Amino acid sequence: MRYWIETLGCPKNHVDSEKLAGLLVSQGYDAATSPDTADLVVANTCAFIEPAREESIETVLDLADRRRAGARLVVTGCMAERYADELVDALPEVDLVARFGESLTPTSVTLRHRSTPAFDLLNLPRPAADRPWAYLKVAEGCDRRCGFCAIPSFRGDQRSRSMSDVVTEARGLVDGGVRELVLVAQDLASWGMDRRRGGRGEAVEVLDVGGAQPLTSLVSVLGREVDRLRLLYLYPSGLTSALIDAILQTGVPYFDLSLQHASRPLLRAMKRWGNAEVFLERIEAIRRAEPEATFRSSFIVGYPGETEDDQRELLDFLEAAQLDWAGFFTFSPEDGTHAARLDAPVPSELALERLREASEVQDAITARRRDRLIGTEQRVLIDAPGVARTVHECPEIDGVILVDPSLAVGSLVDVVITASRGTDLEAAVR
Ligand code: SF4
Repeated sequence: MRYWIETLGCPKNHVDSEKLAGLLVSQGYDAATSPDTADLVVANTCAFIEPAREESIETVLDLADRRRAGARLVVTGCMAERYADELVDALPEVDLVARFGESLTPTSVTLRHRSTPAFDLLNLPRPAADRPWAYLKVAEGCDRRCGFCAIPSFRGDQRSRSMSDVVTEARGLVDGGVRELVLVAQDLASWGMDRRRGGRGEAVEVLDVGGAQPLTSLVSVLGREVDRLRLLYLYPSGLTSALIDAILQTGVPYFDLSLQHASRPLLRAMKRWGNAEVFLERIEAIRRAEPEATFRSSFIVGYPGETEDDQRELLDFLEAAQLDWAGFFTFSPEDGTHAARLDAPVPSELALERLREASEVQDAITARRRDRLIGTEQRVLIDAPGVARTVHECPEIDGVILVDPSLAVGSLVDVVITASRGTDLEAAVR
């Protein structure tokens, strides 16, 4: 029996897919080389925003067309969790809509949606990585309630894995050839806080609680296990001085800050912490400690009530912060969220215009930040023939370094950056 898993959405979904693959292998399945040769075809969907949902549906329909006669088609992931009943009704092609933790391989031939999770994906084993880096998911769910975000409603409150589970999985990946681990969670800076307070499901402003931040210890421990450790999605109030120190100690000065906007009133409307001033203060503190630190963030434009002043503040912030990388999204009202009930929607044309304006400002900054690296010496990890990354690029999100294709995949090589090609850079071996 062979399986095929098609994965949509964010890095956290990719980890879930690897764990599902590990489970299927443990049940006697082998990986298929294409969906049309598989007995079990799985679509691991994304429901983040409307375009992601549309892409998920198109993918499911495409897989339904491509599967061979008799193959089972299963839809899982965020769309299955959030819209299970609607999917069951709307997609007769699908054999099973499986919510998180439900078995994909039931004994009955025509099982439909069931609702009780039978296992937690977080603690499943995963197959060895087929590339020299891997995502490592350390928690599921989120205790925050950002105004625009539906994730807590279907992923639930935060459940952090234990330090020993995470370290065991990390060692397995490193033993399998992984040289860079990328830690992911919905709210990574809060990793371990739920375990400390017994899982009460309340968000904690890490800066205010005092005592040690659990993630700081995890970063220190994992930093000794692997050549490179990278952290994604840091809620800004969780960026404590101790965590900054721990990240810098790992030798990967990369800070992916989940900022979403810079205007204080708009951030309050989003039910989020912070403002441009405190964000800049943190960024400057990091740059004082490590001038070569790299920063990434993402921002939402067109949130209900957003004014021209808010947009101006965002643009001014981008100029002042000089982030290396940034992504921009237009607001999309999600069922059941606080923001979906707010008045004063921003017309979609205006939101798109603001997105273009912010992207234009950031593109010029990113180009300048990339050009600064020309002539510098860097150590790169060879991800694939001819494709590498320094510590300044996160896999799958940022640009890459183009190198000699004969360099061995998985090796760390010292190079000199010689030229830029858009957001990618070229390099020659030193
Ligand atoms: S911290 Fe992230 S996952 Fe949690 S509610 Fe906010 S946006 Fe959603």
